[in-house]
Amino acid sequence: MAPATDDDLAALAALRAEVEACTLCELHATRTKAVPGEGDPASDLMFVGEAPGYHEDQQGRPFVGQAGKLLEQLLASIGLTREQVFIANVLKSRPPNNRDPRPEEIAACRPYLWRQIELIKPKVICTLGNHATKLLTGDPAGITRVHGRPQATEIAGHSLYLYPIFHPAAALYTPAMLTTLQEDFLRLPELLARAAPPAGAAAPPAGVVPVAAPAAAPQAAPPEAADAPEVTRPEAPDAQPAKPEQLGLF
Ligand code: URA
Repeated sequence: MAPATDDDLAALAALRAEVEACTLCELHATRTKAVPGEGDPASDLMFVGEAPGYHEDQQGRPFVGQAGKLLEQLLASIGLTREQVFIANVLKSRPPNNRDPRPEEIAACRPYLWRQIELIKPKVICTLGNHATKLLTGDPAGITRVHGRPQATEIAGHSLYLYPIFHPAAALYTPAMLTTLQEDFLRLPELLARAAPPAGAAAPPAGVVPVAAPAAAPQAAPPEAADAPEVTRPEAPDAQPAKPEQLGLF
């Protein structure tokens, strides 16, 4: 992991200010605070979630609710803290009532994420759940089918591994999913120890090249699971669990 240059740090600070003032989509009108992302700007490991929930919107920080607590426990299981990784989201502003991100919101916010990737240059990006996975792989395959399988790709001119895993918020509700998420997480150190994929190994959106499956092959998803109802983030203002039909993360 090369240290971030002064230029990169300045560019990230400028990007942060730009996100905080962003009015590119209608979400700016209802957010409390934008959530640009945070962590080690030179980390080899980046996480990309879906969008801020209630607590993130209040604090302007990613993954500070229940899903964030689980993410921190998962990081601890591989000897890392949240300060040692970079955590971002597809959307930088909270959708009202944690509804699913809309295509025009994703399109407006996407350049911010691409610039973060360009500046942080992670070796591995863990996409958390469906929205981040579909955006970064450029592939409509759902998370239930692709979780736990690293894919060599190139984003913003940078070669890296995408590693899709279940969203922690979805795992909070489904014990089997939590077990799978824990197992997928435990393969991260091996992936981080690999050399970065060579430039030109693959180019999104159509050319994402799967690399060898991990030694412990992930469980095959039941065919119907890819079409399971989507789940939303649980950090609702009243901390009530979201109803399954609201949820968008599988
Ligand atoms: N869920 C997300 O996808 N992102 C957050 O920042 C918090 C919860």
